[in-house]
Amino acid sequence: MSGIGLGYASWLPLIPCRFHLPPVKLPSLGAEPVNFTPDGYVELVATLLARGYHLREFSAVKPDHRHLILRHDIDFDLEAALILAEAEADRDWHAHYFVLTRSEFYNVSAPRCRAAIRKLQNLGHSVGLHFDASQYDPTEMTAAVDDESAVIEAITGSPASVFSLHRPHPDLLEATLTVPGRTNAYAPESFRDIGYVSDSRGAWHHGAPLEQDAVAAGRPLQMLTHPIWWTSDPELSPHGKCAAFLTRQAENLEQEMLLNCAAYQGAGAEETQ
Ligand SMILES: [Zn+2]
Repeated sequence: MSGIGLGYASWLPLIPCRFHLPPVKLPSLGAEPVNFTPDGYVELVATLLARGYHLREFSAVKPDHRHLILRHDIDFDLEAALILAEAEADRDWHAHYFVLTRSEFYNVSAPRCRAAIRKLQNLGHSVGLHFDASQYDPTEMTAAVDDESAVIEAITGSPASVFSLHRPHPDLLEATLTVPGRTNAYAPESFRDIGYVSDSRGAWHHGAPLEQDAVAAGRPLQMLTHPIWWTSDPELSPHGKCAAFLTRQAENLEQEMLLNCAAYQGAGAEETQ
């Protein structure tokens, strides 16, 4: 699959090239797609749709309906998120993407990141805040969600009406973070009325999507994926995917260093002499 290994300096200008996948080959309805690749992701969603599921936003999900929420928490890799977002948009699928505004892995104020986030929005998806509550005192959290959501809204020009929690502490899940005018993807009703499945740590540790009780019962399902796990090489382990991401990040930073630091350029020239 092209695109995922592109260098930092080159990948954004190439993003407008649509990500064309071959026609979806539906697995038999009893089979579980296990490939953590963009193709595997498309097969998985297509299988759920073939089982009668319909894609819905958080605000439109109804209990006792086969409604499917596609949720992506971008903990690390905006580039991988864009590949999934293109694949979804090619099929007129809507998803929710959640973005960290205080991350060591990407900077939403940097031009390329801002362009990537706008691209997610322009592909027809919803972009909201992925909130890292560990950086705040509990008394600050409601205001912080508003402040950080406003950062995303300034980039996309659209309301960031839903937020998700990044690695939430169990106490926070129990207490429930409520923010007037915004929907918490981890709100209790999301779990009471809607099935939930996550690919945390690069695998379906609590059962694959098609094995969920909610799917067997024809109830709604929130399917959380993290784009870094859905890279193009099915042979890579989760650890290998993290390592590949770090290698790309290092390459990206070196490109920026070459563009911005004459001393580094000079050192490179000397080494090649
Ligand atoms: Zn997260």
